[in-house]
Amino acid sequence: MTAASLEPAQVQCLIGGHWIGRPSAERFSPIDGSPVSVVATATTAQVEAAVDAAETAFRTWRGTGSTDRARILYRAAALVGSRRAELAGLVTTEIGKTTADARAEVDRTVDLLLYFAGRGAADDGAVLAGTSGGEAHTRRRPLGPVALITPWNFPLAIPAWKLGPALVAGNTVVLKPSEYASAGAAALVRCLLDAGLPAGVLNMVPGAAATGSALVRDRRIRAISFTGSTVVGASIAEAANPLTQRIQLELGGNNPLVVLDDADPDHAAGLAVTGGFAQTGQICTSTSRLICTPGIVDAVVDATCAKARALRIGDPREATTDIGPLATAHQIQSNGDLLDAAVRAGGRIRLGGRFEGNRFGPTVLTEITPDNPLAQREVFGPLVGVMVAQDLEEAICLVNHANFGLVAAIATESGGAAAHFIEHAEVGTVKVNEPTIGNRPNVPFGGVKASSNSLFKEQGARATDFFTVEKSVYTSWSPPRRRPSTAIR
Ligand code: NAD
Repeated sequence: MTAASLEPAQVQCLIGGHWIGRPSAERFSPIDGSPVSVVATATTAQVEAAVDAAETAFRTWRGTGSTDRARILYRAAALVGSRRAELAGLVTTEIGKTTADARAEVDRTVDLLLYFAGRGAADDGAVLAGTSGGEAHTRRRPLGPVALITPWNFPLAIPAWKLGPALVAGNTVVLKPSEYASAGAAALVRCLLDAGLPAGVLNMVPGAAATGSALVRDRRIRAISFTGSTVVGASIAEAANPLTQRIQLELGGNNPLVVLDDADPDHAAGLAVTGGFAQTGQICTSTSRLICTPGIVDAVVDATCAKARALRIGDPREATTDIGPLATAHQIQSNGDLLDAAVRAGGRIRLGGRFEGNRFGPTVLTEITPDNPLAQREVFGPLVGVMVAQDLEEAICLVNHANFGLVAAIATESGGAAAHFIEHAEVGTVKVNEPTIGNRPNVPFGGVKASSNSLFKEQGARATDFFTVEKSVYTSWSPPRRRPSTAIR
């Protein structure tokens, strides 16, 4: 069976409720190179037309009741759940995620849509003390047409965690999915349309950098929510107009797992393996650095290598496979370059380090110094570098030495050590005795330093803040001219 034993998916632009544009860019599966999709590339004119459609639809959508908007998200969640096999199959063939991971992503997408549907029915303002005799209140209003630009590694969940709050708050959307995962994104979009989303409320412009850039430069776009690499995020920040366009950037990481002497080495190794190698290390929250204190480092490294050796690398469609291929040619190149640079800088390969085509197994390097590229750059592959810290304080210094600040985890039995770590690790999320990967729809997510522009978090109860502006209202009413009669008639 080839990855795309079905006909390759045909992906067009969605503009004002119509699928248009000729699919022309062929995409091939990382599993076996067979064609998986043919994708239209939205031109600048089509991007403009998509923004036109979003602008027009905003006039009506903003006035739709929030519970009506929420009802569409509830229905979309049900449709995503009912199309689980189809959606997971697309994710697996497009980017090589194992079937188990792809199904988990579909389930998470359902949870995200349900969560944001629920938020839509929640309160959106506060009553406040006003001037004497008057009152004040706030209400949150949608911004208008917004752009969502997403990466390939969670082709359903990341669009969903942006679409949910954007739509339920009353904005209209132009979605620019990754060029490597457009078929999955299109299938998600179809669920929303089939759930009753009116034409023009959600538009999709497939394509690569030029399409995304045209979208960012359209000054009618009121907000840009971007998830992807730090370098592209920085270029978007430059291209956007900060006076009229709100910008949310969620970017890369180099996430550490600190293991203190008092931890259980086997449990800590489990955290390192899950965090480092799940989804072939292609998660923004994957563990890249394993920072251990001297009394436990050997036991943790031995156990991590033993567990990692037991992982099966293979065809992601097979139930027995733990590690699928690297998703793109760029991924193969950048992982190979980083491995070479890490070794040149003194790192010693303790496990793995070999490529077979786009198969790259779990790789552990020891003797990683703070300035080794493996400890400084984003890794985004199944590579973990081991570092030794003399104590908790030094471990925290190493954590904070990297320019990124997405997630940091610690394995310890000491509540005091954990509390100190929680306070001093310069990251957006801290995990205690949990792997660096994994987050829940109700918990805010986002980084600091080079991992995010840190203005607004995604997910969680305040995720709609980015997509709304708070309006403050003062009201005073004159008293009635005639005194009300006290007589009962
Ligand atoms: P990428 O930055 O290459 O591309 C992301 C999106 O931006 C794609 O849709 C791409 O077409 C578009 N794009 C590229 N150039 C553009 C430009 N000049 N203007 C506008 N849009 C442009 O990232 P990727 O390879 O798709 O994804 C991997 C990256 O995403 C990693 O760095 C990873 O850490 C990051 N990521 C971050 C999070 C998070 O929440 N922090 C989550 C997942 C992935």
